[in-house]
Amino acid sequence: MPEGPSLIILKELTTDFIHKKVVAAGGNSKIDKVRLVGQSIKSLRTWGKHFLIEFSGFSIKIHLLMFGTYLINDTKDATPRLSLEFSHKQSLNFYACSVKYIEGELDDAYDWSSDVMSDQWNPAAALKKIRSQPEMLLCDGLLDQEIFSGVGNIIKNEVLYRVRVHPLSTVEGLPAAKLREVVAQARRYSFEFLEWEKAFVLKQHWLAHTKSTCPRCHIPFKKAYLGKTHRRSFYCENCQKKYLK
Ligand SMILES: [Zn+2]
Repeated sequence: MPEGPSLIILKELTTDFIHKKVVAAGGNSKIDKVRLVGQSIKSLRTWGKHFLIEFSGFSIKIHLLMFGTYLINDTKDATPRLSLEFSHKQSLNFYACSVKYIEGELDDAYDWSSDVMSDQWNPAAALKKIRSQPEMLLCDGLLDQEIFSGVGNIIKNEVLYRVRVHPLSTVEGLPAAKLREVVAQARRYSFEFLEWEKAFVLKQHWLAHTKSTCPRCHIPFKKAYLGKTHRRSFYCENCQKKYLK
């Protein structure tokens, strides 16, 4: 599943499409595609795991979900959910994803300060939001898109390993400095993720996610589907401390 940094890569790959006019729109998504024809792209943005194609007065939100993919100026042997065609045979094609309209101004549609990749990211606001849910487990808190938009399961596992926090720790159990460290690393790790993914070396930097042995303790990692989110966690019972109130 693509996490926030992967969407930044998509945004950078599609910069050429800004100001281009849609000449045809297709795909099996049920949205009104006729509306798009003749419209020019105003901007391409991301919010967490959402890829946003902004037109005048409305936008399209693409969520790649678990298995979504895209092709730029190319197609494959599958029906896209949405395909946008431009002059000179250029096209954007999105597969196995969710496609929805957002009406009105995009700036009003999202809390941009919760996006870990955004220039408007606000760590103090994230701290305040996470503290408002004292009993929440850290493995759920990091995946909360209202707090850490863009953080997915890989970033969750790697950040918790990096800061030596057990995924079943609670927000209220964590010392204040440790919670600030979690918030800071959620952003820092996401930017490292971006650089590694661009260089095609992301997986070799994983220390915990999908791994079987703790590189610090040389003992087996635990693997479990934890929390309300029930997502795979990889963690070390020895060096990741369980903070409880
Ligand atoms: Zn360990």
